Amino acid sequence: MPEGRVFPVWRGVRTSSGGGGGWSQGWEHCLRWEPQSARQEARISVFDCPVWLVLCRQGRARLREVCQRGRATIRLPTDMLSIKLPQLFDIHQVPKVFREDSIISGYRHPRSSALDCVLSSFQMNNETINIWTHFLPTWYFLWRFCVLCSTLNFLTDSYTWPLLVYMLLICIYPFTSSCAHTFSTMSAESRHICYFFDYGALSLYSLGCAISYGYYVMPDCWVNSLLHQHFVPVAIGNTLFCTSLSCYSRFLELQFPQRSKVLRTAAFVVPFIFDTTPLIYRILGCCGESCSPSDALSNHCYHLLFAFLTCFLFTAHLPERLAPGRFDYFGHSHQLFHVSAVVGTHFQMEGVIADMTSRRAWLVAHGVVPSLLGTMGALAVSLILNLGIIGIFSAPLLWKPCRSSKQHMTACECKEQ
Ligand SMILES: [Zn+2]
Repeated sequence: MPEGRVFPVWRGVRTSSGGGGGWSQGWEHCLRWEPQSARQEARISVFDCPVWLVLCRQGRARLREVCQRGRATIRLPTDMLSIKLPQLFDIHQVPKVFREDSIISGYRHPRSSALDCVLSSFQMNNETINIWTHFLPTWYFLWRFCVLCSTLNFLTDSYTWPLLVYMLLICIYPFTSSCAHTFSTMSAESRHICYFFDYGALSLYSLGCAISYGYYVMPDCWVNSLLHQHFVPVAIGNTLFCTSLSCYSRFLELQFPQRSKVLRTAAFVVPFIFDTTPLIYRILGCCGESCSPSDALSNHCYHLLFAFLTCFLFTAHLPERLAPGRFDYFGHSHQLFHVSAVVGTHFQMEGVIADMTSRRAWLVAHGVVPSLLGTMGALAVSLILNLGIIGIFSAPLLWKPCRSSKQHMTACECKEQ
């Protein structure tokens, strides 16, 4: 751009100054003021015309057109600073593997880059709330964990180790879920692998529940029973069952969606029933003997209510099933499922902490002393085995990415589904 002041041209405005200088066509739709002397530069005759004259003689439309063209040419700073958010798609524009039941719009590109995935968490799409409803609670649970670290001695007090395992896992499972929802649209393979990790974290969380329930929540009459002694080893077996079945269910999703849903639900319900059986027995026993209600039991009851609500939301796909497309961004069942799960976990955590504190003397007196092997050891063994299962399910996807991605790309480009 040459030096000189540049102004848009509009009809009706006089383009000659009558003085020594003058306007000349500098580039399309623009005039450049060319003073004859440095003294003239200060006075610009165009501003002598009243603004209303410009607007009356179709100047407004002209002005808008010129500004648009000028913006494209000279690149205003606002254009340079704006970040282009990824485009969103409707259900018929993405491959089947990415589609969600009764969610019609707001899909991200099925081959998004990692950066696009991260940016998309700040853009309103049908996964945004899913991401944040587990990302923010992660920080809440981390904060609670830090507060507990300052009040309890997790390093040397073995009685607190079950709580340590439990707190670690309730921080990990929402974070893993948040990451899975964020990066699930990089490719069909990445989507499967992301959710494999999500399921693995959830099944490890079930182990955390079993370890904390086994040491703190077990009813008095079951302490030192056969079930109590084998509670944690069976829970480790449950995590293997849960991760394997839930990962396997993803491969049935396209061909047999109902069977896939049943298997995945069963994968999570079985460890839940096993973990909560002592708790339910204790609550029922307490009701029969009309024992005095405690903080721990009321929190456990709230947790159970939210756990049933979570299961209902996961299986029912309400409310979006009643009005497909209306809850694409806000209020669909998976968002409610996340919120319900987190609120349930909050009550569960409060119940576990209350039981740990109030029953300490009785449990220690009856020989319930957690070991390193029964807590951290169980977590380490389960973590390694579950990572192995995820690796086994991920290997075929990673080894044949080209063929598979080519198929999905074709499906996406053709929009044939
Ligand atoms: Zn989720």
